[in-house]
Amino acid sequence: MSDDDCQHENEYSWWEYDARGIELARVCDKCVDAKLAKYRPEILTGYTQADVDEPIEPEWGGNW
Ligand SMILES: [Zn+2]
Repeated sequence: MSDDDCQHENEYSWWEYDARGIELARVCDKCVDAKLAKYRPEILTGYTQADVDEPIEPEWGGNW
């Protein structure tokens, strides 16, 4: 698919997906760490920049 795909031969490889189920890269044991390191953690875990920028509701309801 792309240069991101695993180029190793004779290695068990699998697809890594982002949180939305979109293929990121083909990886194997030798390169999974390096390939996933290029992606922001939010992509892998489901957070988007919009989520990060959202104001956080105070859990105490503002009653001091
Ligand atoms: Zn590989």
